[in-house]
Amino acid sequence: MEGSGLSADSGNSFTDLRLRFQLEYGRALAVCGVMGLYARDQPLWETGRAVVNVESGRNGVANPPRLVDPFARAITYLRVSVTDRCDFRCTYCMAETMQFLPKKELLTLEELDRICSVFIRCGIRKLRITGGEPLVRRGIMELFARLSSYLDSGMLDELTLTTNGSQLARFAEELSTIGIRRINVSLDTLDEEKFRRITRWGRLPQVLKGIDAAREAGIRIKINMVALKGFNENELHPMVQWCHANNMDLTIIEVMPMGDFDDVTRIGQYWSVRDVRARLEECYTLQSLSERTGGPARYFQLAETGQKVGFITPLSHNFCESCNRVRLTCTGTLYMCLGQEGSADLRTPLRGSDDRTLIETIQAALARKPRGHDFDYTRQGVAGRMQRHMSHTGG
Ligand code: SAM
Ligand code: SF4
Repeated sequence: MEGSGLSADSGNSFTDLRLRFQLEYGRALAVCGVMGLYARDQPLWETGRAVVNVESGRNGVANPPRLVDPFARAITYLRVSVTDRCDFRCTYCMAETMQFLPKKELLTLEELDRICSVFIRCGIRKLRITGGEPLVRRGIMELFARLSSYLDSGMLDELTLTTNGSQLARFAEELSTIGIRRINVSLDTLDEEKFRRITRWGRLPQVLKGIDAAREAGIRIKINMVALKGFNENELHPMVQWCHANNMDLTIIEVMPMGDFDDVTRIGQYWSVRDVRARLEECYTLQSLSERTGGPARYFQLAETGQKVGFITPLSHNFCESCNRVRLTCTGTLYMCLGQEGSADLRTPLRGSDDRTLIETIQAALARKPRGHDFDYTRQGVAGRMQRHMSHTGG
């Protein structure tokens, strides 16, 4: 009985002992109930004919089936936009006068925790928190802390975020403590004046300070740079060198037709990653890496420096044969593809039903996941445009 809280000499009879056992067992179950939110990785507890699955969360849906789409792609990666708000107004992402959603439309932190937990029970292994700017959402560290319990239990392989870096100096230490190992920081230029121009409201020194804080806290950083014609073409080499000097990976992204931008603006911004690669090949030998993330990214190693550079080419590559991800907006809409309109409302079942209905809604949505998107700038037009903003869906 050692360690059980029961001792053989404290009671005189078998009945006493049984009563004590029932008391302790009841207490253990009550503790499990309270801890249920944070301890869903525990095994089944069998009590006679009733099975209490601590893993199943609120409404006892034991071991829901893994998420697989009609093309036999296993869905293991969820990106969640936790807010549509941002402290920057990047010109390719938002209008300066962007209208934000009423607060009541947004999922609460508790709702975000519950819905992420349901996805994790359905087999999601990687969770990326994004936005808008995720670190401007009040109380966001609470959500990170709750979700990090799945890292401890092994139900999640990775919990990460994409950020503009403005608030990193404040949160880096805490993020590291709760188990965030790698993050993406978006940075399109190292020129202070150009940075202000592209972000409208951002300040480069603040972001650089945030990046330093994250590195000091032991967080690995990948810089996301949107390739913008006529804006950062001449910064490709300085950015590669700066990332190498600071031991950071770099990913270059083609600008996508998201949001209500006119065609002339979008096509004017578009700098094909094919051209970016050719520019890099003037100075470096690009060795293809087998590493894939399930998205449209391809990774290379620069033979001369050994650093890793990725290219995200949604425009030049739109058959997503290995797509493993879905996206949840800050209002609880699930998008099965960044570049298609197909979606499912999860907020209604989240607010009005049990986990079983929520899981069924997710599974039905997955059955409609398309093969790929239709982004295309050829023929001097913008095809496949999405009216919704990246900040709403989560980039
Ligand atoms: N605010 C955070 C940030 O900027 O990292 C997270 C959200 S932001 C929408 C996520 C990523 O989407 C950023 O790397 C940003 O550069 C990228 N992005 C935004 N609009 C885009 C567009 N139209 N085309 C390509 N990338 C875009
Ligand atoms: Fe904000 Fe990120 Fe959009 Fe820039 S790209 S406006 S930082 S959400």
